Amino acid sequence: MFAVGIDIGSTASKAVVLAEDGAVAAKAIVPIGTGTVGPARVFSQVLEKAGITREDVGWITATGYGRFSFEGINDQKSELSCHAKGISHLLPGTRTIVDIGGQDIKVMRINDKGLLMNFVMNDKCAAGTGRFLDTMAKVLDVDVTNLSELSFRADEAAEISSTCTVFAESEVISKLAANVKLENIVAGIHKSVARRVASLVQRVGVQLQVAMSGGVALNQGLVHSLEEEIDCQIQVHEDCQLAGALGAALYAYGSMQSA
Ligand code: ADP
Repeated sequence: MFAVGIDIGSTASKAVVLAEDGAVAAKAIVPIGTGTVGPARVFSQVLEKAGITREDVGWITATGYGRFSFEGINDQKSELSCHAKGISHLLPGTRTIVDIGGQDIKVMRINDKGLLMNFVMNDKCAAGTGRFLDTMAKVLDVDVTNLSELSFRADEAAEISSTCTVFAESEVISKLAANVKLENIVAGIHKSVARRVASLVQRVGVQLQVAMSGGVALNQGLVHSLEEEIDCQIQVHEDCQLAGALGAALYAYGSMQSA
């Protein structure tokens, strides 16, 4: 039997299937999250990729913001526990995790067994989250996946002093009107997010190794800005956005074995 972890986020749905030997059999990401068809779609996609049907699944563990709304699961686990488990599997030796998703930022301290020891989270405000970057990309009329490359082409970071999404949006519009280079505005946006995230990191304290999880970690420009703010290297695995789903799948695998 196969084990499935499904991470129903605010912005994206992610799923991982583990085979009978515990190896990853399939993974899938659908860029729409809770309250949409995203969770059902990612579940059918991941089964199809693994070449299995629902009957071949022995255990499903859900995590993420929308984890209580998915029917047919065996159990659910918090995002914090799943990211901790997923990242320590992908990047053993990690002690500090910075997870930036669509609507929240979490900084976690984990021990050598991948167990959560301490964490801080942003308040309800979108400042510094994926949503903030998505909004800024829209104002600049660029795709969020191009922000990284643009920021690396900047010659200096424009000053974006507001962390509030609404005020920062007006600031970006006035920079555009003043003919500030697009690349410099993007670098300024990254710097403003990095400053905000760094203040949360400081509250938990930097303990090496530091890793990032969540979709925003795919933005290398932002990762680079955060490295400058916290003055240390940050590890990013190519499956960073799947860390929560992988953690849930590992929990599902464990529960299936002991059931
Ligand atoms: P959640 O779990 O809250 O749904 P995710 O961890 O899946 O969030 O991250 C979603 C965020 O990741 C979105 O805001 C999106 O902008 C960002 N993102 C996804 N892919 C990329 C990419 N290739 N480059 C930059 N940002 C990305």
